[in-house]
This record gives sequence, C-alpha cells and structure tokens, in this order.
Amino acid sequence: MIRIAIQKSGRLNEDSVKLLKECGIKFEGADRKLLSRAENFPIEILYLRDDDIPQYVNDGVADLGVVGQNVLEETDFNNLETIKKLGFSKCRLSLAIPKDTIYNAGNFKFFDGKRIATSYPKLTKGFLESREAIPKIEFLSGSVEIAPGIGLSDAICDLVSTGSTLVSNGLKEVETVFESQAVLIQTPGKISEDKKNIITDLIFRIEAVQKGKDYKYILLNAPNSAIETIKSLLPGMKSPTILPLAESGWSSVHSVVKENEFWKVIDKLRLAGAQGILVVPIEKMIM
Ligand code: ATP
Ligand code: ZN
Repeated sequence: MIRIAIQKSGRLNEDSVKLLKECGIKFEGADRKLLSRAENFPIEILYLRDDDIPQYVNDGVADLGVVGQNVLEETDFNNLETIKKLGFSKCRLSLAIPKDTIYNAGNFKFFDGKRIATSYPKLTKGFLESREAIPKIEFLSGSVEIAPGIGLSDAICDLVSTGSTLVSNGLKEVETVFESQAVLIQTPGKISEDKKNIITDLIFRIEAVQKGKDYKYILLNAPNSAIETIKSLLPGMKSPTILPLAESGWSSVHSVVKENEFWKVIDKLRLAGAQGILVVPIEKMIM
C-alpha cells in the first residue's frame, strides 16, 4: 500500500480529489478523517495543510504528495522529486505595487531597499537578489494584499491567478517571479519494489486521464463523395473509422482528434459536406 498526501481543504483539494477519482480510485473525502483508505486501489489518502505536504513526503510519512510548485520551491527540501506536472491550480507569484506608482518593466532596481510583504520570502529574495535588488522582506502568512494600504510595506509579492484581488486592493502587478502549477512529488527515501509497482500503475492512470482531456471523439455524417476530403482534413491519431449509414450514399466518420486542432478545421469540414457533427469527451486514453 502507498500513501499520498493531498491538501485537506483549499484551492488544491478539489482538483486533487478529482484526479484520483478520475483514475478510478474510490475513497471517502476529508470531512471527518485525516487518513482514508481507498476501496479498490492499494492507496491511503492523507489530508494535510498544503504547507506541510513537502515535509511529510520528505520524511517518508507519505510516499507521494500533491502540492503547488510555489510551496515546494519555498521549502529547503531539495531532494523531493517532481514526478508529474498535473496541470491544475495554475497561478503565478508576482510583485505588485500601488497602482499610481510609476514603474518601468524590468527596472528591478526599483525594489532595492523597498519593504515587500510576502508569504514567499525565499522565492522573492532569490528573484530580486539575482537582479541586484536587495529588498526588506516583511513576512506575512496571509492577507498580504492589504499590507501597502495599511502602510506595512511598499510592495507585495503574492500569488495571482486573475488579478482581481490586486485590483480591489488598489495594486497593479508589475513583475512575475514564478509560474506555478500543482505537481506530484515523491519521497527521496528508499521505496520497496511493491510500492514502486503501485506508483507506476498510478502514473499510468494519471497519464491516461491527462491524454483523454486533450482529445475528443468526433463523429460526423457525410456523403460518400466527400469522404476523401474529410479524411484529409481530420488531424486524427490514426486513419478514421468509416461506417456506411442506412441511407445509401452516406457514411459515418469516427475519429479521435486533439480538441484545439478540431476547432481549426470545423469550418472546412462543414464546407466539405459534414453534417450532424458530435464531439464526445474521452474519459481515459491509452496509446
Ligand atoms: P492550507 O490551509 O492548506 O495551508 P492555503 O490557504 O495555504 O491552504 P490555498 O489558498 O488553498 O492555500 O492555495 C493552495 C495552492 O493553490 C497555492 O499554494 C497555489 O499553489 C494554488 N493557487 C492557485 N491559484 C491561486 C490563487 N489565485 N491564489 C492563491 N493560491 C493559488
Ligand atoms: Zn498553506
């Protein structure tokens, strides 16, 4: 049995739970328990605060963990291995200043000697010091965005996704320090062969889920005279399946196509004579 640490509640929790469920793993939520055992896969889910996840995985209390790269990079656990980027909880750590302050992009000297409020002192200092600006860090564990307004700092360095929190606090984003997403990390300690096999199985499932998200199953009907044109337009994995329809002279075309590529050719497909186009999600894809 392996153990995976995920966030108990917060921005990472829902997508972490969803990923495991999409991998076909059944388990109870974090409502009452700290640890829950899956019914149909040899895995235990340990629910923690996100800041504690790197430590637990580093110490081997959990074999795997799901955590933001921002949290991981802020720690000093350099041996934690990132085994998979997960593509969710995307955000950036950014420097922001009061909106009326003049700032020219790339002029990092601006931050030299400035008081910067942040929950990420290591990333903030590392970024600015390598650009020859030595900031005065004011460490805050939360509500960083109010610091300039109450006179506690000249600037902040905080996580941003849409930027609306900055705007509502009279701030503007001026430099990106770090781009982050959720990652799967693995303990640096020794792992038994049995556990390695379970981890390989889990990663195989995660990859099947991720590939499924990129692709769609496309079905369309077309007159037989248009089939060759349609085949050449469809950017499929393999050549499409063509099945005759009950109505003579017509066929149904099935293919698996990357969603963003499909939208590029949709107009051409319709011009070529495609009708009744269905775009169906794929739950898992194994190539
Ligand atoms: P915990 O109680 O587990 O310590 P928290 O309050 O520190 O939770 P959350 O706000 O739930 O953390 O954010 C968890 C992670 O989600 C962040 O570390 C970051 O990787 C990611 N994230 C994505 N978008 C944002 C955003 N707009 N603001 C903050 N974090 C974000
Ligand atoms: Zn936290």
